[in-house]
Amino acid sequence: MAPHPRAELPGLFLGLQQEIAAIAAAPMVRSAFADFVSEEARIADWQLQLARIPAPPFGEQVRGQWLFERFLDIGLKEVHRDEVGNVFGVWPGVTDNSVALSAHMDTVFPLGTPLNFRQHGAKLYGPGVSDNGAGLAALLAIAAALARLRVRTTDSLLFIANVGEEGEGDLRGMRQIFSHRHWLNTIAYQVVLDGAGNDTIVAEALGSRRFEVLVRGPGGHSWSDFGAPNPIVVLARAVARFVEVPLPTAPKTTFNIGVIRGGTSVNSIPESASMRVDLRSTSTAEIDGLAEALRLALKQAVEEELRAVEVRASTHKRKGDLSTEMMVIGNRPGGELPAGARILEVIRAVDAYLGNVAQVQRASTDANIPLSLGREAVAIGGGGSGGGAHTLQEWFDATGRDLGLRRILLLVLALAGVRQ
Ligand SMILES: [Zn+2]
Repeated sequence: MAPHPRAELPGLFLGLQQEIAAIAAAPMVRSAFADFVSEEARIADWQLQLARIPAPPFGEQVRGQWLFERFLDIGLKEVHRDEVGNVFGVWPGVTDNSVALSAHMDTVFPLGTPLNFRQHGAKLYGPGVSDNGAGLAALLAIAAALARLRVRTTDSLLFIANVGEEGEGDLRGMRQIFSHRHWLNTIAYQVVLDGAGNDTIVAEALGSRRFEVLVRGPGGHSWSDFGAPNPIVVLARAVARFVEVPLPTAPKTTFNIGVIRGGTSVNSIPESASMRVDLRSTSTAEIDGLAEALRLALKQAVEEELRAVEVRASTHKRKGDLSTEMMVIGNRPGGELPAGARILEVIRAVDAYLGNVAQVQRASTDANIPLSLGREAVAIGGGGSGGGAHTLQEWFDATGRDLGLRRILLLVLALAGVRQ
């Protein structure tokens, strides 16, 4: 169902801030805030434990099992996994709707990466410790505080540790959730926890589409088969055409030819050549247009090369045909919050209440999926600070993590509604 404005809450920002202040003043919520400080050692320990479990794309099972057990220990209800490995736990409210809080489990590190973790005071070191160790640790910290203090909410809070956010995972975990009728009908708001920090609000989804372009030809000897069509030349012609396509600056739209491969030796006409192309825009229509331009550039490049073959065939008898394939290897839909979205007003009111300064940003996160469906979703950090994401030098500093946790708790409670 569509996100529903809460009748009992005034829509004006000041009213919203008063509402946030009232939630923050509730004794249970104040106890939760205190927990975030007193439980820091346990939260950091969870973070290190889970980060130590390898979770490459499509290899999140063991980490998923660990989170499944933590959800049970904490006392969440209806703890289960779906067919792709997303782990769910519910803190029940009294309506059928839920506010979903999610964090991705996968890392960019392939299996076999040396996972060397260390802790020095508040600082944790190791690959994936922040992205998304910080998000997962915050997910557990929020669930544990709600369950320990028996905070009663109107809508349910749905906790999700999901698969497939990074790279070739291509948002498969979030896609699975939002292709499921039950979740589609009941998730009113989606809050994605990704990485550390409390200084950003990702409210716009950067879309991307990635292609592998493959050209095949007959191949042959560079001297005796000269004249046959050459797949590398086709790619070169296609690239030369494609990069001339004019791009709009608004909405910002970009491309990259990131990988080009082909051929076997300097004296062989290659049998195949391929390239990988990344297209990005805040507008799906622009990505569609650019993909079409790439397809056209490839088609024209083939025609050009075949015409060149005809010309060469008058003196060199070799001909032969070309085939092309353009495969989608990644597709992240773009989108943005509907105007006047409640989730953005609430997070801004929470930030104002906490005296926290945060910038609205555009990025590619799990929130792309609900945002592309016109749903209310944001991605925010799990608190503390971090750096070196996607490198072996990744670090996380838990100093001030409780601010990030208070921010997340106030956001989800204001969205779900608190019962006295
Ligand atoms: Zn991440």
